[in-house]
Amino acid sequence: MAQGAIENRISEVLYSEEVIQARVRELGEKIASDYSTGGSACDAEGRPPMLICILQGALVFLADLVRQIPTEVEFDFICVASYGNGTSPGAVRFIKDLERPIEGRDALLVEDIIDTGHTIRYLMRSFAARKPASLRVCTLLDKVARRETSVGIDYTGFVLKQDRFIVGYGMDYAELYRNLPYIAVLKPEYIR
Ligand code: 5GP
Repeated sequence: MAQGAIENRISEVLYSEEVIQARVRELGEKIASDYSTGGSACDAEGRPPMLICILQGALVFLADLVRQIPTEVEFDFICVASYGNGTSPGAVRFIKDLERPIEGRDALLVEDIIDTGHTIRYLMRSFAARKPASLRVCTLLDKVARRETSVGIDYTGFVLKQDRFIVGYGMDYAELYRNLPYIAVLKPEYIR
């Protein structure tokens, strides 16, 4: 489908490509500095922090973020799906789990957007049980208005005060719009 056609479905750009890239650069520098001692981010056993990307939404963010971290990092991917109604809020099943163990490692969960908070809370519990040396959370967006459970977020790109459904920069509506380089709101007629 032509790019022009996609752009005609956008009602408002909330964060432009330039604004996102500048913020991701700041986050990368902050993460590198927080995990570093003496110019290296590796632990006593020479292992760098492990960034855990939550697919699919955080893929684009992760790809840009790691290129703004000037110290050693590793990354791996998980893919989760929600259970239907009737299960505890945020309970997810792993469609794809990590390839490597995180026991004793510095682990950083990378999420696209924290909304009610249930998903990240569930994942934090699940990964804490694997006994990492540290476990932190980095989210590109924090939708504070919809939070239902308290979550400790270590790194936040942007705080979205209004409750709006957004797409772009990895985030989808019906699997589309992930490839937009900016974060936007769709016109209502394109949301069924
Ligand atoms: P939570 O468990 O925090 O309610 O859900 C977080 C997940 O919901 C995010 O990782 C994302 O997949 C999805 N989500 C929440 N708000 C939005 C939104 O505005 N746009 C899109 N595309 N996904 C969202």
